[in-house]
Amino acid sequence: MAFYRITFRKCPGCGFAFDSSLFGLSSRLGPAAGSCPRCAKVVATGRREWSDLAFADRLSFGAVSTFYAVVFGWICGWFARNIVAMHAGERAPTDTFSASDPTFRIVAVVAALLVVMTQVWRVLRSNHRAAELPRVVRALPYFYEASLDFGLQMKFLLVPVLVYFVADVLER
Ligand SMILES: [Zn+2]
Repeated sequence: MAFYRITFRKCPGCGFAFDSSLFGLSSRLGPAAGSCPRCAKVVATGRREWSDLAFADRLSFGAVSTFYAVVFGWICGWFARNIVAMHAGERAPTDTFSASDPTFRIVAVVAALLVVMTQVWRVLRSNHRAAELPRVVRALPYFYEASLDFGLQMKFLLVPVLVYFVADVLER
């Protein structure tokens, strides 16, 4: 049984995966269409600009963003605490949630704020795009390119995992 589920959104023309989401969760914010970076076909992304989102969708954006902030804060805090314990030659903490630990608290709060700032930035960018008349259909990004609208969950998760493994390797 898989305890994670990744859904890819693909170009109907060539099958290129331009977006991904975990557990079907999505903020639904982003350009509504874009051209496929592989075959140049213009595809619908399933996303909407902020100005086109209904009130319920905006509420859902706020709820999903809050959930991301809490989960990402917790993951980063937990990894940071483990790295500190590893560096001190201690055994890895067995409890997974430790709000009293200063490392956990600081890193968790900073990571959660990073998510909040990213989401606010995405809304501002969306409004900026929506103000362009006529609206420009841009090329969708490849996975490795900087984009804050597509496949963001995996990119955010990759960072603490990579930092942890680098720290693990350095300690050996
Ligand atoms: Zn394509």
